Amino acid sequence: MRKDSTEFYPTPAHLRDLLVSDPNSSDAHELHGVIRCPCGSAVSSLLYVAELTESQGIPLLRVLELPAGFFLRIGARCMACSRTHLLFDDDYHGWNGFVCPSRGARERARPLYQTYACHRCKAESHQISVGILGDKDQGEMLEDADGVLDQSNWFEGFGWFTVEITCVSCGYGPVAVVDYETR
Ligand SMILES: [Zn+2]
Ligand SMILES: [Zn+2]
Repeated sequence: MRKDSTEFYPTPAHLRDLLVSDPNSSDAHELHGVIRCPCGSAVSSLLYVAELTESQGIPLLRVLELPAGFFLRIGARCMACSRTHLLFDDDYHGWNGFVCPSRGARERARPLYQTYACHRCKAESHQISVGILGDKDQGEMLEDADGVLDQSNWFEGFGWFTVEITCVSCGYGPVAVVDYETR
């Protein structure tokens, strides 16, 4: 039986023109899909304001701690048209960012993006997949958000954000470079 798209977790507003959802891995609580630029290209370089670390030999982007505070910002630059798209910023998106951002966090100057290079071949071109996990249902979200969320945007309070990338040049991947709980 075909799943109706209304059964899927709604796409957060900032990803609506970018995320092409995958019906096979998405359901009412999870949304997964590839990032495709409005120009039609799905090949991007991954941009980050984060700390690039390794976990058991696998690259992993974690929250970056600076004197100005904590940052986690992920972007994609289209390899075809060079437009840059924001995929996630911890001060704007997900539970903490959307529902209860820390005071002054959004007003801080953001460090410049760094460009991710493939762990194996150092190329920049990647296919990027994003996952949005809402760990509560709509009713619980609305209750917890205490008036900040409503029927029109309850899904903006998602609880988990993931990014998987595959190198277009050498095929390395998919690598889960971001696996982040937003609350
Ligand atoms: Zn493009
Ligand atoms: Zn590579």
